[in-house]
Amino acid sequence: MTRVLVSGGAGFIGSHLCDRLLAEGHKVICADSLLTGHKSNIAHLLTEKNFEFMKHDITQYIPIMGEVDYVLNFASPASPIDYYQYPLQTLKVGSIGTRNMLGLAKAKKAVFMQASTSEVYGDPLVNPQDESYWGNVNPIGPRSVYDEAKRFSEALTMAYHNVDKVDTRIVRIFNTYGPRMRLNDGRVVPNFIYQALNGLPLTVYGDGSQTRSFCYVSDLVDGIYRLLMSDVNEPVNLGNPNEISVSKFADVIISLTKSKSGKVFKTLPEDDPKLRQPDISKAKRLLGWEPKVNLEEGLGKAIEWFRDHPEINTL
Ligand code: UDP
Repeated sequence: MTRVLVSGGAGFIGSHLCDRLLAEGHKVICADSLLTGHKSNIAHLLTEKNFEFMKHDITQYIPIMGEVDYVLNFASPASPIDYYQYPLQTLKVGSIGTRNMLGLAKAKKAVFMQASTSEVYGDPLVNPQDESYWGNVNPIGPRSVYDEAKRFSEALTMAYHNVDKVDTRIVRIFNTYGPRMRLNDGRVVPNFIYQALNGLPLTVYGDGSQTRSFCYVSDLVDGIYRLLMSDVNEPVNLGNPNEISVSKFADVIISLTKSKSGKVFKTLPEDDPKLRQPDISKAKRLLGWEPKVNLEEGLGKAIEWFRDHPEINTL
């Protein structure tokens, strides 16, 4: 049986990844500081014999006894309001935390995977973004603490690969949604669903012409698993290429929830990317992967989950 360490395993994506790894027959050690992750995301796994939880901040030495076959680094605040609130923790987890995880992977001769992000492309000047685009990132703006930490994580990962021959993977994750997102994490999907379900106006930032492309979490996790099991060391984009403006996205949520809410336009946050769409040709070619869940179907499941979990707003 292979043993997998997942940092950030109690987060939104990390917890779905733990589910998938267990279902594939791996032993899973989930490490999470619980700064933005939540134990409720893994509550259903705590009695599984192949699952172990350790409350741990990976910016500190990571004490793992025995063999580890895969080291997956999914720890970091990931929502803009989270990294505005925790700028130093975000920079530290992306630098010191990534360094500790890579050091562990090297010592254990494990495969290492870094969760990266579409934010490495910043406010992109090309659309869609493929992996060869170097990005347009403000190094000192409010989003820089996340964007530059992830860019540093990628650089460090490639350096460990090139110098120390660590077998590495880098996944660039585009906007993803689904059950277990925190309703109060400030991102557009939980915000709009909460507002629509509660008859509040949907807060569209700017004129809502900025675009995003939303991927359902099960599709993303399938791509991550395929990448992990592949031999691809270069970064790979994973996301859904179905691009939509934020204003149109609000209309879709209002319609799917059958809400009477309207839209209210608010100030656009600084450096908010104007366009975002993944070019997933590389993932298709190398992993045989593409998303299967369309927006209406995925949002239907997400809305149902938020309806069934009103308590999540108080977390
Ligand atoms: N957004 C919005 N209203 C909200 C929350 C977000 O219009 O209540 C916009 C935000 O300005 C951005 C897009 O929706 O253009 C996606 O924002 P999110 O925070 O989900 O993630 P991002 O893709 O910016 O990291």
